[in-house]
Amino acid sequence: MKSFRKELWIETSARREFINITPDVDLCLQKSGIQEGLALINAMHITASVFINDDESGLHYDFEVWLEKLAPHSPTSQYRHNGYEDNADGHLKRQIMGREVVVAITEGKLDFGPWEQIFYGEFDGKRKKRVLVKIIGE
Ligand code: ZN
Repeated sequence: MKSFRKELWIETSARREFINITPDVDLCLQKSGIQEGLALINAMHITASVFINDDESGLHYDFEVWLEKLAPHSPTSQYRHNGYEDNADGHLKRQIMGREVVVAITEGKLDFGPWEQIFYGEFDGKRKKRVLVKIIGE
């Protein structure tokens, strides 16, 4: 069995941002040479997510509004976690959007359904963070 591991470094200019990392994962898959197997892609930080959905700006705006309703950033004093930090909302948003995705590898390609793309979701950005890509198979 072959195994491939890579850390993708991401630094957003905004506090919250969604980034399509499908091309980066695709590059990892090409480098791995794996034809049949599984790819795991996970955020390595607890205020960031990796999720699969549509690459459509209206939907991304809707996610932002929805997440802000569920876990508003302000007032920061509403959260017990905040004190030295102000990112309690980021932890909650990450929990909703998820830590990782698994994608099947078939005939050397990411075996997506229609419109599926892989996104990095940042909820406490403006600093360098990592996404782990692990691919196993033959
Ligand atoms: Zn925190």
